[in-house]
This record gives sequence, structure tokens and C-alpha cells, in this order.
Amino acid sequence: MATFTNQVVWITGASSGIGEAVAVVLAQAGARLILSARRVGELQRVAARTGLTPDHILILPMDVTQTDSLSSLVEQAQGRFGRVDYLFLNAGITQRSTVADASMADYHRLMNVNFFGVVALTKAVLPVMQTQGSGHFIVTSSVAGKLGTKQRSGYCASKHALHGFFDALRAETADAGLFVTIICPGYIDTPISLHALGTGGQLHGKLDANQQKGMSPTVFAQRWMRAVLSRKEEVYIGGLEKYGIYLKRFLPGLLSRIIRNRPGE
Ligand code: NDP
Repeated sequence: MATFTNQVVWITGASSGIGEAVAVVLAQAGARLILSARRVGELQRVAARTGLTPDHILILPMDVTQTDSLSSLVEQAQGRFGRVDYLFLNAGITQRSTVADASMADYHRLMNVNFFGVVALTKAVLPVMQTQGSGHFIVTSSVAGKLGTKQRSGYCASKHALHGFFDALRAETADAGLFVTIICPGYIDTPISLHALGTGGQLHGKLDANQQKGMSPTVFAQRWMRAVLSRKEEVYIGGLEKYGIYLKRFLPGLLSRIIRNRPGE
């Protein structure tokens, strides 16, 4: 059975929510961590929470939309630990606006953070894993990566795009000993809705009830760990909402009616 002991795990979106919880659980499991996000102060807070000594953790500030800086960050990661065993591509933002209200700038922003940023870092780390002859990409999609809901058109599109990209990457790299796990969370209790792109260029700025009633990030992180260690290709973690994925597959007309009749948030 695989373990995380001494494995090097690079986490994006590590300053909050899911990334933070996964960092804490992985530290308890003996991993060495690289933490990335934009807010350095929050990364330092998370690093302290993990309890890891400085030789086991590296804070690597990163804006995933600044793709020109990624190769230098990969060099720093390699310089420190000499390898990257797992890359958890988790940084993301969401949306709370209808198609009629969302601006093209919002759509570009959602795709730049949630899709192109992920693609760019994946391409930057891929040669490292190919040289190692081992490595595991884990990406945070969403239940919204498997179906479409109101006020999330750009978010859903960005998460759907991840599935095509990572299914293709899995097929291309399996023979080289690499793995890909796509994680689709349902509602997880994080502050993600605070920074959601709202209407008229404003941030949504509210904690949504669906998130607050969602799964605790720590419980999520424990399930995440089990799924990754057992090398699942795609996994759904959340409450009842995750069954929407099965409705979409087996009873799409019913799911369409349910979503149509639900309020936007
Ligand atoms: P949070 O808002 O708590 O975390 C988002 C993380 O992404 C933060 O660490 C943030 O760090 C980072 N981030 C955002 N923009 C950038 C950027 N441009 N460059 C680098 N890092 C960035 O939300 P969650 O933990 O909930 O979200 C994590 C992932 O989970 C996302 O991909 C989200 O889509 C997905 N997800 C969440 C669900 C939920 O219910 N919570 C459900 C389904 C999927 P910083 O601001 O410091 O840069």
C-alpha cells in the first residue's frame, strides 16, 4: 500500500479551504510539502499549522495566471527537494452571475485561473515527473465539472475543460508511470464564495449557505488522501449533491428539471 511518508507534495491554493486542510492531513501522514498561493501571510499561517520543521516545507508564492514565472518556481521546488512526487492543482475561483450579467473579462479570468493556470503548471512539472519515471497529478474539478448549474456558466465550463485535458494527459503518460486523479468536490465548507466573481465587476463577498452547510474540509482531506493513495482516476467527495453526477449520466432529463427549478445560489 502506498503512503505519503517522505513524499514531496506540491499544493496550489494552499492558503485556504481545501488546500489548507489537505496540507495539514498530509503533514500528519509524513509528507514533505510545497505550499503555493498568492497570500504569503496565509501560507505562513498554514505552514505553522502543519507543524512541519523548515527542512520539510517550502513556501513558494505563486499567482497561477503569471505563467512566465512557473519555470523558475519549478527550479526552486526541485532545488529544495530534488523531486516532485505529487502535484495537487487546486487553486481556483468561482462565480455568482448569470450568462446575461457576466462580462467577458469574468469568463477570461475564470478560464485563466481555473484552466490555463492549471495547464501551465502541469506542463512545467511534467518533464520533472517524466525524468523521475514517476509522479501523480491531482486536480480539483467539481461536481460542477460534470453538470451545469445556474450562475456558474464560466465556472462550470472551466471545470469541464479540466476533465478533457486530464483524461488526455492520463492516456498519454500512463506508460511512463504517471498517474492522474480528478477530484470532484460537492459543497465543502470553505470561504470560496467570498471571492466569487459577481455582477458588475464586484466580488460576491458573501459566505453562501450551501458551502457553510457542506462537508468539513478536514473530512474532505481524509477522503482525498484515501482516493489518491488508491490511485483512483476520478472521485466524487461531498454530500447528496454529488449524486447529481449519476442523475446526469442515467436520468439527464430529471436532473435538468431539478436544476431548472432550483434558485441560483
Ligand atoms: P478557497 O477560496 O478557500 O481557496 C482557494 C485557493 O485558491 C486559495 O488558496 C487562493 O489563494 C487560491 N487562488 C485563487 N486564485 C489564485 C491565483 N490566481 N493564483 C494562485 N492561487 C490562487 O476555496 P476552496 O478551498 O473551496 O477551493 C479550492 C478548489 O476547490 C477550487 O479549485 C474550487 O473550485 C474547488 N471546489 C470547491 C468547492 C467548495 O464547495 N468549496 C466545491 C467544488 C470545487 P490566494 O488567494 O492566497 O491566492
